[in-house]
Amino acid sequence: MLKSVIPDSSELVFMSERNQSLIFAIGSVFPEAHHGHCLWHLKEKVKWHAGNVNKVIVGHRFMELGRYYTVDDFNSAYDSFEKRYPAVYKYVQEHTEKDKWARVFFPRDRYNFDTINSVESMKSVFKEATTWVLIPMLDCIVRKFSDWFTQRKEAVSRSIDTSLVPLVENYLHGLWAVAQKLSVRELNSYELKYEITDTAGKMFWVSLVEKSCTCKVWDYEKFPCLHGLAAYIYFTTNVDGNDLNIHELCSKYYWTELWALAYDRTLCVVPDMSSWNVPDQIKEVKIIPPDRIRGKGRKRVG
Ligand SMILES: [Zn+2]
Repeated sequence: MLKSVIPDSSELVFMSERNQSLIFAIGSVFPEAHHGHCLWHLKEKVKWHAGNVNKVIVGHRFMELGRYYTVDDFNSAYDSFEKRYPAVYKYVQEHTEKDKWARVFFPRDRYNFDTINSVESMKSVFKEATTWVLIPMLDCIVRKFSDWFTQRKEAVSRSIDTSLVPLVENYLHGLWAVAQKLSVRELNSYELKYEITDTAGKMFWVSLVEKSCTCKVWDYEKFPCLHGLAAYIYFTTNVDGNDLNIHELCSKYYWTELWALAYDRTLCVVPDMSSWNVPDQIKEVKIIPPDRIRGKGRKRVG
């Protein structure tokens, strides 16, 4: 049923806990999609191999490993992690696959998602409704989504003058003053490649055409990093006749235009049964509940 709403695609990414039967089921329905492990749930497992070391700090360090943007930065931090926490490192090496949890090895675009926090939040919102029978539970879910759609629509209408969603608009606005002061040198005027030197003297190479920077923040987050923004400011200030808009340097998923479309539809709950207009051929269908498969183990009481 999910596949009829969301078609299989190599751009699709599923995040979950390391539940093998769930991963297998997703793989058989969505063979093109890629699967990643939730960094938070994995951290909860990893930190219990810390021995006498502070488990909270080990968990924090592990999550940091998952979020590096370049392989060099990851390798350097992973080497330190091995020296500092050898038992945890051994567990991670032997029981996890790095391309499932570390951003730098993940083969697809997953933007800034590395945990399933949004799903956990939703589970908590519908905690009581999941104890109800099916129709009231579905009604509750539809009503809540309808409320969220209305709230998002209001937020979109407040951002009508900007081409980017507030998250990215505010982020770029915050970086602008610093980006303006960075040293920029043109490397290739056809491919719009620039060399940026940051305030610490470190050099980065940016391509406005490829929407890429050697710091890799732009490549993963899908909106310009500090260096990309510096190159954009240089280009729009120094190159005559250009008409490059900043929103063209961001993924279309961050455009207010697409944001508005996502929440455009009106969601209605199922009306009262008295107003239903059920066709005769549907009324004639007799639906018998399926045979219940009795699970193994003790009966649950309550
Ligand atoms: Zn950069």
